[in-house]
Amino acid sequence: MQQIANYINGQAVASHSGRSQPVFDPATGVAHTEVSLATADETRSAISAAATAFVSWSQVTPLNRARVMFKFKALLEQHRDELAVLISKEHGKVFSDAQGELTRGLEVVEFACGIPHLLKGEHSMNVGRGVDSFSLMQPLGVCAGITPFNFPAMVPLWMFPIAIACGNTFVLKPSEKDPTVPMRLAELLTEAGLPPGVFNVINGDKTAVDVLLTDPTVQAVSFVGSTPIAEYVYATGSAHGKRVQALGGAKNHMLVMPDADLEQVSGALMGAAYGSAGERCMAISVALCVGDAVADALVAKLQSEIAVLQVGPGTGVTPEPQMGPLVSQQHAAKVRSYIDAGVAEGAVLVADGRQVAADSAGFFVGPTLFDHVSSAMKIYREEIFGPVLCVVRVPSFAEGLALINQHEFGNGTAIFTASGEAAREFAAQVQVGMVGVNVPIPVPMAFHSFGGWKRSVFGPLNMHGPDGVRFYTRMKTITARWPSGSMPTGNQFSMPTMK
Ligand code: NAD
Repeated sequence: MQQIANYINGQAVASHSGRSQPVFDPATGVAHTEVSLATADETRSAISAAATAFVSWSQVTPLNRARVMFKFKALLEQHRDELAVLISKEHGKVFSDAQGELTRGLEVVEFACGIPHLLKGEHSMNVGRGVDSFSLMQPLGVCAGITPFNFPAMVPLWMFPIAIACGNTFVLKPSEKDPTVPMRLAELLTEAGLPPGVFNVINGDKTAVDVLLTDPTVQAVSFVGSTPIAEYVYATGSAHGKRVQALGGAKNHMLVMPDADLEQVSGALMGAAYGSAGERCMAISVALCVGDAVADALVAKLQSEIAVLQVGPGTGVTPEPQMGPLVSQQHAAKVRSYIDAGVAEGAVLVADGRQVAADSAGFFVGPTLFDHVSSAMKIYREEIFGPVLCVVRVPSFAEGLALINQHEFGNGTAIFTASGEAAREFAAQVQVGMVGVNVPIPVPMAFHSFGGWKRSVFGPLNMHGPDGVRFYTRMKTITARWPSGSMPTGNQFSMPTMK
């Protein structure tokens, strides 16, 4: 069986760890590849390659670093379909969704192509008489990225294009569940002319992650994944003196007001709840309906839409199904156990996905809809990360808003309404990082920054956009005077102020 190892110093390098795990095609349940799990020493060798490469890469002009990004962008476009098939074969999402993932990642590369402009810094002339002040945004050194299974291309692309365009070097530790695409991205970067060692991939598990979090050479760590691991990464990396941004889990609510267009709401919810089999950190997993009339009408609409939703393999089937399998057997079993728990807790199971494609060896769970869910239930409180939508009935806007604000997660949310006043109040009061107004999945574009609130994020700076540039650079402020008559003479012992 093909073995995926590491990518260090511009080439694939076999692992001698003796530890590996199978990589499955979730649509068939068959393992097609094995991924090696790197040793601590192998991880250190990637860090060392990145540290060596930093010496010269940080001196390459921003314009020339941007030119590598332009070539990388062209290669991503050229290989878009090939990459989308690879995503589908290991993650399970349908081909068109995988293409969408790539596009959203590509947009970060486009943003990074503008790095000469983004690194211009600030300049003030005459902050005092004959004194000027300006800032430099300098790279940090070796940066690390640790990424989840659900966006094997897009989430790494949130990080490394900006990091390396800023002049850093990078070690990526992708999810061990779908490692092929990150390795292809490394090959394409080399083809784009990126010098060896600037971008490295270490495949592995906690052993590799712990080295990245503790090795003193690593200056910054970007993490995306579940909340318990995000918290661990933030605490451990910070305790070892690193800059850390760690994005965690979610439970995203949509508030449906009585004046919302229910045709629009049901269409938006179908995609937001069941697209990518619910394995999106911005998926909507709770519909808060204001009033029973809204809930009854919406549940009826969703039920009839679910009845015709096609579930099947992400590639090779025409017409393309709307939903593929979950990523692994274990994850599918976990999602089914949440459905069991919802039934046991007394929620009304309107659509049951537990038996969909039961004759297939693939990891399928069908679209599932619960009505009459209460905030005390486990299916409401916890992130399920599967195609399970919970309808919660609330009497008013205020009680819906309060529920969202009380939830431990605060990644994304949306309101569907025809009232500008309700939308404005919602945007102002909701304790969530990314808010949609009649937009179900409000993922910010690459030139804005992505991040949640509460226990969906640890660390002050979000991903990509302006925050991405701030995260991957260190600001230095220079205050300069060129004396010719303006230099004060004599000793000065009081706090200097500009004259
Ligand atoms: P995960 O936390 O299991 O894994 C993420 C990464 O951490 C992987 O690279 C994994 O190898 C590593 N890891 C796992 N256990 C570890 C441990 N004990 N010590 C050190 N490293 C460890 O997450 P996942 O299952 O791959 O991804 C799904 C989760 O990611 C969901 O909770 C989802 O909400 C979240 N997510 C969040 C965002 C966001 O932007 N907030 C985006 C995508 C996914």
